Amino acid sequence: MTYLGAHLSSSRGFYKMGQAALAIGANTFQCFVRNPRGAKAKAIDPADLARLRELMAEHGFGPIVAHAPYIMNPCSRDEGIRDLAARMMSEDLALMEHLPGNYYNFHPGSHVGQGLETGCRQIADMLDRVVTPERRTMVLLETMAGKGSEIGGRFEELRMILDLASCGDRLGVCLDTCHVSDGGYDIAGDLDGVLTEFDRVIGLNRLKAVHINDSMNPVGSHKDRHALIGQGTIGGEAILRVISHPALRELPFILETPTDDAGHGEEIRRLRSALRP
Ligand code: FE
Ligand code: FE
Ligand code: ZN
Repeated sequence: MTYLGAHLSSSRGFYKMGQAALAIGANTFQCFVRNPRGAKAKAIDPADLARLRELMAEHGFGPIVAHAPYIMNPCSRDEGIRDLAARMMSEDLALMEHLPGNYYNFHPGSHVGQGLETGCRQIADMLDRVVTPERRTMVLLETMAGKGSEIGGRFEELRMILDLASCGDRLGVCLDTCHVSDGGYDIAGDLDGVLTEFDRVIGLNRLKAVHINDSMNPVGSHKDRHALIGQGTIGGEAILRVISHPALRELPFILETPTDDAGHGEEIRRLRSALRP
């Protein structure tokens, strides 16, 4: 059974998100564990998280993905902002201890002119502060579109972070189809070639989750504008090849397309019916 889900709005508590996932035919989902644009953490509600764990077990969910807030920048020039990133990730990972075996995904950050090496070192330093050995949640680096000074637009940049972090062996990667295409990898025209390159540079064993988004822009545009599946430059056929690829098909696939829960439900339904022979 393919694990398909969507990014859900997290204003409703974790158990309710599990129910919302079921309602759209999903068996995984992604969510923020705090306000995506604010720094403030919500109080942890262990009973709510326990109910979600039960729901996930009962309905055969694949791993879910918590997404770090967008404002997090572990390679800011400003030490206060770097510290804030570490604090937010540390608090989020404390919450994720109530959902063991799932993932925590983050955007590596923007080095804002400090240079790739300095940026990667700052990201690695933050990870070594917060990804302590007792943590049971694997942290994932997301592949990015390479907009501005954003780190992660090339596989080599993620490799650099994995190499610089002492905890690098315990980190994973989340591949975003829109981002890699915008980053210059022709995932629509040459999926096998892109996966071979990913394997050579990062290792396919590190790939733990996939964001399935179409893109509004051509390969290498570095724009990061998601499109509905089948309405962008990647196309529905290519997305189907991603979710049915032998090297990928056991992974959780998360839609981050510009629509609501009902729209995501429709995309999931279409993808599931296309997967059936
Ligand atoms: Fe993301
Ligand atoms: Fe993404
Ligand atoms: Zn994006």
